[in-house]
Amino acid sequence: MEEAPQRKHIIMLPYMAQGHLIPFLELAYNMLHHNHNLNITIVNTPLNITNLRSAIANRPSPPSQIHLKPLPFNSTDHGLPPNSENTNGLSASQIMQLLKASVTLEAPFRQFISEVVSSEGTSMVCIISDVLMGWGIFVAKSFGVFSYSFTASGAYGSAAFVSISQNLPHRNMADGGTYDEFHVPGFPETCRFKITDVAQPIRDFDGKDEFSRLFKSKSSMNHESKGLLCNTVEEIEVLGLEVLRNYRKIPVWCVGPLIPPKMLTKNLGSDTSSGVTSQRSGKQLGIQPEKCFEWLDSHASRTVLYISFGSENTISETQMIDLAKGLEESKKPFIWVVRPPFGFDPKGDFRPEWLPFGFVDRVKKQGLVVYGWAPQLEILCHRSIGAFLSHCGWNSVFESLSQGVPLIGWPLGSEQGYNAKMLVEEMGVCVVLARWLDSRITKEEISRVINVVLDKSVGRKGDLMRKKATEAGELIRAAVEINKGSSYNALNDFLTRCFSN
Ligand code: UDP
Repeated sequence: MEEAPQRKHIIMLPYMAQGHLIPFLELAYNMLHHNHNLNITIVNTPLNITNLRSAIANRPSPPSQIHLKPLPFNSTDHGLPPNSENTNGLSASQIMQLLKASVTLEAPFRQFISEVVSSEGTSMVCIISDVLMGWGIFVAKSFGVFSYSFTASGAYGSAAFVSISQNLPHRNMADGGTYDEFHVPGFPETCRFKITDVAQPIRDFDGKDEFSRLFKSKSSMNHESKGLLCNTVEEIEVLGLEVLRNYRKIPVWCVGPLIPPKMLTKNLGSDTSSGVTSQRSGKQLGIQPEKCFEWLDSHASRTVLYISFGSENTISETQMIDLAKGLEESKKPFIWVVRPPFGFDPKGDFRPEWLPFGFVDRVKKQGLVVYGWAPQLEILCHRSIGAFLSHCGWNSVFESLSQGVPLIGWPLGSEQGYNAKMLVEEMGVCVVLARWLDSRITKEEISRVINVVLDKSVGRKGDLMRKKATEAGELIRAAVEINKGSSYNALNDFLTRCFSN
């Protein structure tokens, strides 16, 4: 009997964050959809592997070709709280600490690759490293196996993040001060960036500090890869891709959006319970989904504001009070995912003093306050959602646009300021309400912005934003169409080329 041909093996090395692990998992599923005859191993720390295992178990018929490989990691060895293996619930400085600690996975990863290569051969193995785990490329090179990078962010955000972190164009080197407005190398001269587009820790980088050096070395490692897979759609990020391609000078495959397929196959904002599940993270929901849908069902189409700042970021205590007052002032229905404000234990219990006295009682009819974690995917799929007040994390952006929901931006970290800028200037689907932890906004201003974006009057700003978000949703759906869509074809192209020189 003839032996079955050996399967090619793709090894994925995601960064340790919800917003990176989940897109990698979706990428693995998509790859298997194109080619069943692959083995895919996702490598990470034990806790993240456990979470991925439950995310896979929650989906229909777990594929036997996806393997999970835990590498030893003890967060307390790196000055982090016990069981801190991803960014969830960590403060900004702890997130930096985790980034540093991620480098210690290199030795066990190298050991693992050595075992795989000796049993399967170099030509059968390909490594895809997160751009934040650039050392994976070096490991691949040292064994002579094929290697690629993957960014969970968009093209514009990635290009701006890398260019600003590497060139520090916002600093006037003569006097050490910052420019209010500056040009970012790689972007057109007409595209000016403001210092307020840059997240706080990066704004303070001067090229010599520990984290400038860490970022610089991490991003320069990626220059050694044979190509970049980007979690975006060719048609919606035209400028960002042009800049990224010019800057990186390696092939860029747009394979996004890496969000659950059900969000891409149902009609825009069409019904109640979507069958899409948010339980991908192993997180405890702060509300029963049925209660949430019952409440959403009682509202008219496109009337509810959804508010969430993602899995890592939170606003300050004073901003939380400002936002609560603004929501009350707006009188618009809302679902607000409340997490402990900045500076408090991110895993701690809810404290009533974080919200204005009597707020939860007063808004009982107007809104739902969800503590901790909400079923975001299902909420955004609901027809009654009219806008999303978001930190502009890239997954949230795609989840929102895939449902034709415009955004109100409040960037809080990493590349979110650049995402927000792109969503406003390039796509016209967002209005920025506030930025970072230092914005103070009056309740009148918050109420005004919410009312503008939820306004459905034909020809008004809210209506135009919704139309643009709907068009973006259609482009996103078209991109994943089997045999036709740009993202579908790009992934096909990558898979036919990734094991060749
Ligand atoms: N998310 C969720 N419920 C919440 C908050 C976040 O399901 O209450 C999910 C959201 O759907 C998205 C991810 O967490 O998939 C957040 O990723 P994003 O890139 O938007 O932001 P990050 O958390 O990485 O800053």
